[in-house]
Amino acid sequence: MADLMDLARAAAEKAYAPYSGFRVGCALETAAGGRFTGVNVENASYGLTLCAERSAVCQAVSAEGPGLRIARVAVICLGHEFPPCGACRQMLAEFALTGGATEVTFLKDGRLVMRTLAELLPEAFQLA
Ligand SMILES: [Zn+2]
Repeated sequence: MADLMDLARAAAEKAYAPYSGFRVGCALETAAGGRFTGVNVENASYGLTLCAERSAVCQAVSAEGPGLRIARVAVICLGHEFPPCGACRQMLAEFALTGGATEVTFLKDGRLVMRTLAELLPEAFQLA
C-alpha cells in the first residue's frame, strides 16, 4: 500500500486549499489495475468544495467508465491525519468491490491504517 500512499502524498502537493490549508491527496487502484489520483479543490463558497477522494473517483470513472470497481484507496492530508469523510465513503461505496471489500488506507497516530470500506461505512445507502 505504500506505493499508493506515495502517489497520494505527491498528489496532495497539488491540492487547491487556500481556505482550510488542508492539502489532501488520494490515489486509488481499480480492479482493472488502473491508477488514478485526486486532490481537494476548495471553493470560496465552501459548499462547492470537492474532496480528494471524490476527485479521484471522477478521474477513474472518466477513464474506465461506469463499470469500474475500486480495489484499493490511499488518502493523506499533509500535516494532518484523518480517514475519508462520510460523503467520500458513500461515493467510494458506489464503486466498491463486492461486500465493501475495497481497502482504504490512511494515517492514524503516525501509522498506516487499513480498513475495508464495509468497516468504514457499514450498511451503506443503496437504491437496490
Ligand atoms: Zn471527503
